[in-house]
Amino acid sequence: MTQQFTIVLLPGDGIGPEVVSATRQVLEELAPAYELSLEFETHLMGGCAIDATGQPLPPETLAACQTADAVLLGAVGGPKWSDPSAKVRPEQGLLAIRKGLGLYANLRPVKIFPQLVDASSLKAAVLTGVDMLVVRELTGGIYFGRREEGDEAAFDTMSYTRAEIERVVRVAARAARSRRGKLVSVDKANVLGVSRLWRRVTMALMASEFPDVAIEHQLVDAMAMHLMRRPADFDVIVSGNLFGDILTDEAAMLAGSMGMLPSASLGDSSLGLYEPIHGSAPDIAGQGIANPLATILSAAMLLRHSLGQEAAAQAIEIAVERALAAGYRTPDLAATTPSGPAFEVVGTEAMAEIVRGYLRPTPS
Ligand code: NAD
Repeated sequence: MTQQFTIVLLPGDGIGPEVVSATRQVLEELAPAYELSLEFETHLMGGCAIDATGQPLPPETLAACQTADAVLLGAVGGPKWSDPSAKVRPEQGLLAIRKGLGLYANLRPVKIFPQLVDASSLKAAVLTGVDMLVVRELTGGIYFGRREEGDEAAFDTMSYTRAEIERVVRVAARAARSRRGKLVSVDKANVLGVSRLWRRVTMALMASEFPDVAIEHQLVDAMAMHLMRRPADFDVIVSGNLFGDILTDEAAMLAGSMGMLPSASLGDSSLGLYEPIHGSAPDIAGQGIANPLATILSAAMLLRHSLGQEAAAQAIEIAVERALAAGYRTPDLAATTPSGPAFEVVGTEAMAEIVRGYLRPTPS
């Protein structure tokens, strides 16, 4: 029986509309084979929304997202809206949508495609087998605590409640259970009281609800080193907002290219927000050369986490791997693999078409 879903598209600014359009075509290609009827609604968010309505996240956009099954976002921001003294900025839309949708867990998988191992600044031997998921708490911690800023002194407060810790650790532990069964919780428990609470709550939760998942605790400074030295050892990593912000960017650099990494932001319901980790790349916007693979892989996460379509999600991931294995590269990937095997440089639309081709059943 055909299943119906509504997906809100928020193309945003810069290359956002290009990579979202390419990804929509991939989803449309795949839908019939999995008996999915996908309805797409496009809404304004970011700089384009400020221009049209004066607000980065217009109420109509948030309302549409709240009733959708999933949201796919391109990217927001750009030089036109980057005046730091401006009262209204595109990035405010990102915080508002996370809050408005109750999204407290940010998931960033980092998998090194063997074909792109040379794109990283780390040695290929260190990267072989890297396949990790970093889960970052998104709506608490020091970015949201009490603060004061004066000319002589300033402070920000890092606070977490038991409930905030438990819900994000649960997301990470469930993910670990469906992967290799290993979770690392990152904190700074040798110095911070809030980290000692984080560790105590995590230990108790794992013992009572996830005895089958192996748990390890790491201090954030040590974890920053381990990620560079032995990244292939890690399965799922969970941490608070500030440490997660830093570690997710560090982990992203393992992959070498911003154009390859997807993300998901999840809350208590199945509704999630999916987006590539890169920004709006104003330097290449409108040229048709943006790498759409991070957004296409974000759509795979959307199918997996919000629509419950694991087989369809895997089909997209396999199609992306096959496109890379066949030697197709967008310019950002081609530039970082000068000594690799022969490859063909293609633009955004062509890359999406190649991925679509690998989704089509081969004629028997
Ligand atoms: P960026 O990620 O947009 O670009 C950094 C570099 O990576 C650029 O050289 C760009 O050309 C390249 N790049 C990024 N994505 C690519 C892709 N898909 N294909 C090929 N090359 C790609 O980061 P930035 O330049 O620091 O930020 C630009 C704007 O994006 C800023 O306004 C920033 O605030 C915004 N931003 C938005 C988000 C978001 O919407 N979630 C995230 C980060 C930055």
